[in-house]
Amino acid sequence: MSVNEAPSRPARVNPEAWANAVRAAWHAGGLRATEPRLRVLKTITRYAAPFTAEQLYTDLLAAAGERPGRATVYRTLEQLHGAGWLARIHTQGGEAGYAPSFPGHLHHLVCTSCGIVIAFEGCALDELLERLAAQTSFAIEGHLLQLYGRCAACRKR
Ligand SMILES: [Zn+2]
Ligand SMILES: [Zn+2]
Repeated sequence: MSVNEAPSRPARVNPEAWANAVRAAWHAGGLRATEPRLRVLKTITRYAAPFTAEQLYTDLLAAAGERPGRATVYRTLEQLHGAGWLARIHTQGGEAGYAPSFPGHLHHLVCTSCGIVIAFEGCALDELLERLAAQTSFAIEGHLLQLYGRCAACRKR
């Protein structure tokens, strides 16, 4: 997987490839890979399900070594989300968390049982958007789409 390349088939984001791509993007964008930022990245790669900012901050506090400040954690999350490296994931309880993603037109499938997130590229909403734009005179600028259900492994249990 190269730097900006999203998975070509629906797939779980590979944490190693994701972290490498983020570091490359930081480097290209002139953002220094400081120790606290790298610790944030590393901790994110350990989550099997969407995580919240508070959960991440708590986990970083519990780890040994230099602890990033709350502001650094939140700013790093904002940067990653703004650049498309983290997707906002909504769970059924109405909570929102983050999951690793790639910049571009990506959507996500989320397992309501184990929390696994599968990313897929694009969607087939063009016809619907065109019709709605014609019917409502809206200049539609974006859309949100997230699918939820039970993953293959959870269905076998
Ligand atoms: Zn599952
Ligand atoms: Zn879409």
